[in-house]
Amino acid sequence: MSWQLHIASDRCIGSGMCAGTAPDLFALDDDHAHPVNEHIAENDDRALEAAGICPMLAITVRDADGREIGPRE
Ligand code: SF4
Repeated sequence: MSWQLHIASDRCIGSGMCAGTAPDLFALDDDHAHPVNEHIAENDDRALEAAGICPMLAITVRDADGREIGPRE
């Protein structure tokens, strides 16, 4: 089972906060970040942490059933 990461490139401003929090999950590519892998091990709370600190709320984390679990309310 895995979680799924998505970054809305039209919202990302390239702050680098996600890559700074979890460099093995997120990478900066020119002006935008992207997930290193779309699918990650589930229960990796760093993905939720990154989604929570993204200033543009550009990161979406989904669980194995496709439910949106991050950013948390
Ligand atoms: S924290 Fe958000 S705005 Fe900053 S690089 Fe990552 S996805 Fe883009």
